Amino acid sequence: MMENRRKGIEWRFTPPNVIEEAEGKNVNAILELLKELQEADAEMTRLENLIRSVPEELGQQGTALESAKAGLEAFHKSVEAAKKERLLKEGAVETKTQGIAKAKLKLNEVKTNQEYNAALAEIENMKRAVSLLEDEQLEIMERLESARADEKALKERVATEEAEFAKVKAEKEALVAKLGAEAKTWAARRAEVAAKVDPAYLSHYDRIYKVRENKAVAGLKNGYCQACYQSVLPQLALEVRMGTAIHKCPHCLRFLYYVPEEERETREKVG
Ligand SMILES: [Zn+2]
Repeated sequence: MMENRRKGIEWRFTPPNVIEEAEGKNVNAILELLKELQEADAEMTRLENLIRSVPEELGQQGTALESAKAGLEAFHKSVEAAKKERLLKEGAVETKTQGIAKAKLKLNEVKTNQEYNAALAEIENMKRAVSLLEDEQLEIMERLESARADEKALKERVATEEAEFAKVKAEKEALVAKLGAEAKTWAARRAEVAAKVDPAYLSHYDRIYKVRENKAVAGLKNGYCQACYQSVLPQLALEVRMGTAIHKCPHCLRFLYYVPEEERETREKVG
């Protein structure tokens, strides 16, 4: 088998894809360990990604709460502004009323008819202004009265969003705890398997897992690597099938294990 592997001219130009240390060892057992390693790593990666996505999901719920709070705050500001406006109008009414009283006293002091008529017209003007200001005040008070219903609805919305946020937060915290516990179990399993794998394979596996989209072990089916979908030489395919040596795909350098042509790969995981 060693000779077969070395005599073909094609082997000289392909990257080293046979790990010689596998000679005499149980190739299938080693590949099984590597597949188990990959399964544990894939699970840990999946769980870590899920855990990482939790704050973002909670953030979306938080945004809804913030928007409800902002709505209530804006409402309160507009109510404060209306109250201030009403007070200003109240002050203006008072000033004008005092003006009217003074103008009435002056009526006794005027000397000509013309001055008298002018003073009367002034009093009338001020009375009209007071009446207008009082109407406006009334309008503001009506507005404030009807705003109470709006305030109730806005407060209810804040309360609903707060309850929803607390509920989602509790759910997410429970989820993170659950996923974290699962990840811990897989990490323990991974350590257990890794301890059984030859350090030479392990370091190659770790390197390829990182640089090759979280996949360091791939099936070989119909002579094609099921990770990079490139074909390998028939001799290599035969040796993978016979389980005589640990092979790496010459193209993507992933460890290769044999997948029967008729069967679907069950251990393959995308991504
Ligand atoms: Zn490949």
